[in-house]
Amino acid sequence: MKNNSKNDIVDIAINGPMSDKTIWKSDSDIGKAYGDMVKYLYRKPNWGCLYPGCGEKPISSHSIQASKIQKKLCDNNNTVVSFQPVFSKERLSVTAKYIGVHEASTSPMFCKKHDASLFYPIENYDVDVSNELHLFLYSYRAFIKGFYDKMFSFQASIDGVEKLKQVLNYNEDKPLSDYPTLMNEIKHSYGFYLGYFNQLKIKNVFDYAFEHNKYDVLNFKTKDIPYEISFAVCSSFTPNNDFDGDVINDYIADDEPPKFVFMNMFPENGKSYLLISYLDRQKKYLNTYTESLISESNYKDRLSEIILRYTDNFIVAPTYWNSISDAKRIDLLRFFSDTINNKEISYYPNKHNLFEVGNN
Ligand SMILES: [Zn+2]
Repeated sequence: MKNNSKNDIVDIAINGPMSDKTIWKSDSDIGKAYGDMVKYLYRKPNWGCLYPGCGEKPISSHSIQASKIQKKLCDNNNTVVSFQPVFSKERLSVTAKYIGVHEASTSPMFCKKHDASLFYPIENYDVDVSNELHLFLYSYRAFIKGFYDKMFSFQASIDGVEKLKQVLNYNEDKPLSDYPTLMNEIKHSYGFYLGYFNQLKIKNVFDYAFEHNKYDVLNFKTKDIPYEISFAVCSSFTPNNDFDGDVINDYIADDEPPKFVFMNMFPENGKSYLLISYLDRQKKYLNTYTESLISESNYKDRLSEIILRYTDNFIVAPTYWNSISDAKRIDLLRFFSDTINNKEISYYPNKHNLFEVGNN
């Protein structure tokens, strides 16, 4: 029998309410909202290991599998290429860095025990696209990496506000509007706070599904590519629009939490795999879009565009990076960097396709 309890996570995962609009605040309430954020951080659940109910000290967890995928893509020095942001006063730019396979795409997400046990089936066996547990674990990894990043940004932004208060000699008796820079920073933090809460709801769904083997809370799509690609991706993203320009994520008007696509792509055993999923309850928003990534004849362009426009957790084989022209390297880095803050920038197949190999 269907359980309609608001607190029943099964129901929430399938069709129940997940959004909480009361969390939105007007400018005049932002000072109070800041108090709420700080209070939350003081009382927050343990931000250690992210395995359901753990919280132990985390180790550096790989999100892009090291022993199979990174080892396949790396050069003789055991390095892979990763796009890394460089912050300067003038602008944000991105550089291609050679990183050792043990450091690439790692974050302190799980304790030693759970890092090993949670992903055991996909760490120790070849991917099986007919196995829902495999597909679920790849999705979970893509999700949790983004969740960790959001959590980290939220904490770091609050630390930034506290530092700025000291620099500005902030006086609590004065209105916040007397400190426009501080006001701006707090609004920025509030964005991370909202993002964190939205993703926390999605984490509850993932955790429930994992604990009860209920993988059909996600909708999976897979594609085989008949050769080994020169890159690997493990990321989640919220597309603004579909390829016809129709809106998918409208963060102001939507009652739904953000519509995430969880994506993995990697070479294995002579071919490559694209694994995509999304919350089944969001099917009406994401089904056509994700299907187009699998079935359209220009899927290589669509995927290249998505990887560069929306994801940040991907690595490239140095052999590929060294085989393309300087001009193409600059085009790829520039598109990745410029689309961080401006989602309107156009993708050009001749400049930004990641599947092309060799001297182009
Ligand atoms: Zn743990």
